[in-house]
This record gives sequence, C-alpha cells and structure tokens, in this order.
Amino acid sequence: MKAAAAPLREVLREIHARFSGNSDGKIADYIPELAKANRNWFGISIVTADGQVFEVGDCKQNFTIQSISKPFVYGLALEDHGLEHVLSKIGVEPTGEAFNAIVLDEASNRPFNPMVNAGAIATADLVKGKDFPERVTRLLSMFSKYCGRDVYIDNSVFMSERMTGHRNRAIGHLMLNFGMVGERIEDSLELYFQQCSMLVSSHDLAIMGATLANGGVNPITGQRAIEQRYVKYLLSIMLSCGMYDYAGEWAYRVGIPSKSGVGGGIVGVIPGQFGIGIFSPPLDAKGNSVRGVLACRELSERFGLHAFESGYTGQRLSDLLTPARRS
Ligand code: GLN
Repeated sequence: MKAAAAPLREVLREIHARFSGNSDGKIADYIPELAKANRNWFGISIVTADGQVFEVGDCKQNFTIQSISKPFVYGLALEDHGLEHVLSKIGVEPTGEAFNAIVLDEASNRPFNPMVNAGAIATADLVKGKDFPERVTRLLSMFSKYCGRDVYIDNSVFMSERMTGHRNRAIGHLMLNFGMVGERIEDSLELYFQQCSMLVSSHDLAIMGATLANGGVNPITGQRAIEQRYVKYLLSIMLSCGMYDYAGEWAYRVGIPSKSGVGGGIVGVIPGQFGIGIFSPPLDAKGNSVRGVLACRELSERFGLHAFESGYTGQRLSDLLTPARRS
C-alpha cells in the first residue's frame, strides 16, 4: 500500500514554490565547470534522525560539495589525533573574513578555524595515511559512510581546482613557513582539492546531516560515520563559522549548525531530529546559496528550529511526519 503523503512534504513543496521564483544571486564562476550550473536547479531534502526522507525539486542533481566537506574532514582529523592535538593545530575562532582570506592567528601560530580555507587545508594535512593514495581512500571512505553509498570525485572540477588553486597553494606554503603544517603540504593541498570536488546531491547532504543529528550513525544504513563524542565539536564549529562571513548573523537569526559551499549546497543539522540538505547554485555576496538561506530561515522561523529557542509553543516539524511512522 502506498504511504499517505506526509504533510511535511507539502510544506517543503510550498517553500520550494515560494523561493524558486527568486532569481537573485550569481553562480560561482572562478572555474568554468561551476559556471555551467543551471541557475534554476533547486532541491530541498530533509532526512529524520530515524531515516525518513522528505524532499522536493532537484534533490538528486549532483554538484560538488566544496566547502561543505570541511566539517566532515575536521571530524576525521579529530578521530585521527584527538581533540587536544587538533585544537593545538587549528583554532575555533570565527574570523569575520572571507573563506579564502590570507589571515593566520599569529599569537597562537594556528589558522583561525577549520571552516576557512587556511584551517581546512591544515585539517586535510592532519588526515593520516602512509601515502597519498591511502589518505584519499580514507577520506572517501569516511564520506561514503556519511552518504551511505560509494562517492566519486568530479575529475574536471578537481583538475580545475588544482590548476587555478594558487591562492590555496600560497596559504598552504605560508603555513608551512610558520610550521603550522608538515612537509607533505603539497599532498595535503591535493587532498583538499579532492574533497572539494566530491559529488553530492541535496539528498546526500540531508543524510549526512541526519547522520550528525543521529549521533554519528547513518540512519539509513546503520553504519557509524564518526565517533559520537566528536559530533558536538563539528556542530559547534558549524554554528559559529559555517556560513562564511555571514556566520554570526546566521547563528543569530537561524540558529541551525550549518555549512555552505560555493557549489550552491547547504547542510543543516537539528541535533536529535533532522538533517537538512539544500541545493541552489546562485550565491549571495558572501558565497551562500540565496534560495538556500531563505529556505533555512523559513524552516527555522516556522518550526522553532533555532538552537536556543526556549518555551516554544508553535508547530513542530516532527508533528508533520506521517502518523503511522512517528511512534
Ligand atoms: N574550492 C574552493 C576554494 O577552496 C571553494 C570552496 C568553497 O566552497 N568556499 O577556494
């Protein structure tokens, strides 16, 4: 028997219809591959911490994960080295600057945080492995657990990222000069370009978010993607630094630990409840998906999803799930 459509799907359809008419924003074009994206693509996916999927629009359209990879690789670094060592190498302070700013915390001799490129490159440098292929394999295997499927690199995006990545390479070498990263920085930069070029859909992002919402276990496959004790560190860094130099206002208005990427994706996490994945390529001036920001704001305001909401008496997203599957 076909399950009755959950009201949540209707709500997502309504939000999708409301914002699909918004034509603001500019598609990233620093490499030709990204400029080819269709500006009308728009997918919204929500996956519950117990694995129910609700989605509308272009939720199976693949795009490159870009900066959304950063918190997940940070999780791998935490598993590889533990909290104290990782904190001694990469700070957790927001910069208030663009993601690719050439700024380092000179007082502590660390990049500011793992969500800006400097910190993400230093994070990639911490990924263990006896050689480059083993490090790539470990990275991809980690992402496969989050997505619940084999993951692939978009090779032409990867080639373009590495051909044009002079600024990232400069940041890497500046950090090498200061002793913030090791001698294998060239390999670590390759690893960073690889992670940015991995293909995902909004469906995948929602499952990745749901995995974090579910304490690190992918709710569809039942496979653990990250140790439970590290999940809260990923989420706090996403809340304070995940939305580029809009992160402060995002934490204030929306209050959902999230991460965006220049491919047009956003992943959001409501701990214990949901993962949200949104994809729409046009970006605002800060580099966040225009429709993605609007849809998250709407979801947060309408259902009281702000992390610091207290005494909320309005409608809850969890009330909109199919009754038969709610128990
Ligand atoms: N890959 C690009 C870079 O490293 C963009 C990453 C992002 O999504 N901001 O500059």
